[in-house]
Amino acid sequence: MKRRKFLQVAAAGAGAAALGPLVGCTPVATSPTPLDVKGYLKEPARRIPVVDRADVVVLGGGPAGVAAAVSAAREGADVLLVERQYYLGGLWTGCCVLPVNNTDALLKDGSWRRVVRGFSEEICTRLTAMGMCIDIKEGSTPVPDPEAAKYVLERMLEESGVRLLYNCQGAGILRSGDRVDALILETKSGRVAVQAGLFVDASGDGDILEWAGEDFDIRRHQIGAMWRCGNAGALQRKGVLDTPVKGVKLFHTHGEMEQDGLDIYNLTRLQVKLRRQMWETAEEDRRQPGCEDLFLLDSTSLLGVRSTRVLRSLHNVTFDESLRYTHYDDCIGIGGADPWFSYRDGTLPGRKRPAWQIPYRSLVPRKVPNLLVAGRCFGYDEQIVYDAREVATCFVTGQAAGVAAACAVLGRTDVRSLDIPHLRHRLQAQGVNLGA
Ligand SMILES: Cc1cc2nc3c(=O)[nH]c(=O)nc-3n(C[C@H](O)[C@H](O)[C@H](O)COP(=O)(O)OP(=O)(O)OC[C@H]3O[C@@H](n4cnc5c(N)ncnc54)[C@H](O)[C@@H]3O)c2cc1C
Repeated sequence: MKRRKFLQVAAAGAGAAALGPLVGCTPVATSPTPLDVKGYLKEPARRIPVVDRADVVVLGGGPAGVAAAVSAAREGADVLLVERQYYLGGLWTGCCVLPVNNTDALLKDGSWRRVVRGFSEEICTRLTAMGMCIDIKEGSTPVPDPEAAKYVLERMLEESGVRLLYNCQGAGILRSGDRVDALILETKSGRVAVQAGLFVDASGDGDILEWAGEDFDIRRHQIGAMWRCGNAGALQRKGVLDTPVKGVKLFHTHGEMEQDGLDIYNLTRLQVKLRRQMWETAEEDRRQPGCEDLFLLDSTSLLGVRSTRVLRSLHNVTFDESLRYTHYDDCIGIGGADPWFSYRDGTLPGRKRPAWQIPYRSLVPRKVPNLLVAGRCFGYDEQIVYDAREVATCFVTGQAAGVAAACAVLGRTDVRSLDIPHLRHRLQAQGVNLGA
């Protein structure tokens, strides 16, 4: 692609930031693109030291994982959160996908109201009190500062007594019958294992689902990027968002469509390409009057992978159910709508899209009795992807998975036999909105 055309595409992507995602994802029936395997080697059997035990182990410290860990600990569970990076927040902070989308939606009485409360509201309120989150009021989309969010998420873990392990790449599981017994971690201290009564897969990519032989779909979606520039106050470009820090603006490109987010070669190619696009866009923007000192603040440490493995749960939420305000007896939270997005091939404006209930069953795998799933890999049909994987919804499913995990492990029951009225009671006690 010629440089000019390349930059036009970048600008178009950036311009679409406030419009939300533009195209859908496609399901891949069985597996990701197979790697070009040159042969196989056999690894000798080895003993793995068990370095930790907890009631609940959460894999992944993104929005869903942190909400799950904090919420489980607040219910009295001993919780260990395992994260491969050195910060919390996942794509929210590490890929600068800052706007907490889908906090609000249309209610039956025709009003547009905030429907996502609980953990989501708590953290945005906290960041706002620090002067590090803008547009928090009902009807707007909260936009935090990523560094402040990383700081507050660590404080919340500390305050709730969650134990945290960074720089641990989940690499597999060990089973005991149909249960997950231990999570294997590759770390700088070597290969280790942690055991728990219950595991929450909040890896975004459903890594435990794969290792545990659970049912899931693999979806291809756009892989794009977001980044920030400093000294950008004077920049005139559609779709570039303000952030809480003066002169710092947020940029966005949709990247490439229908990408395999589980293929390391593809991910590397896209990372290199998108970083170049960020740099060249910043160079271009610096030529605007008043933007001579604009600079690329961060090219973000996580690539913008939107969707990969998605659980085939006890009940995957469908788009039609969500449009009909379908009521579930096991509702564990309310999902919102993207006001800038047009649904159903553009015929349904986001502002007309109603709030929707999320059933507990959509977090529950079909096979493993001590596993729950939260965040962008919980069970929903592909058409609802614009709502189901946004940050606010990840907070909702994370908080529900955390409370459910604590209820299951402390009540010595499995995830499919949970006392649902008790779960809902505990969620309400944590400030979750269960009715829309
Ligand atoms: C380009 C782009 C733009 C977006 N824009 C918006 C937006 O404007 N507003 C919005 O609300 N949403 C947006 N989203 C969606 C949203 O950011 C994500 O869907 C959301 O962050 C998912 O949260 P999660 O906790 O499920 O997973 P993630 O945020 O992906 O977090 C998963 C965490 O698990 C860790 N992890 C993964 N695998 C392992 C492993 N094996 N071992 C250890 N740790 C592991 C990761 O490091 C990460 O910290 C966007 C997404 C993308 C890609």
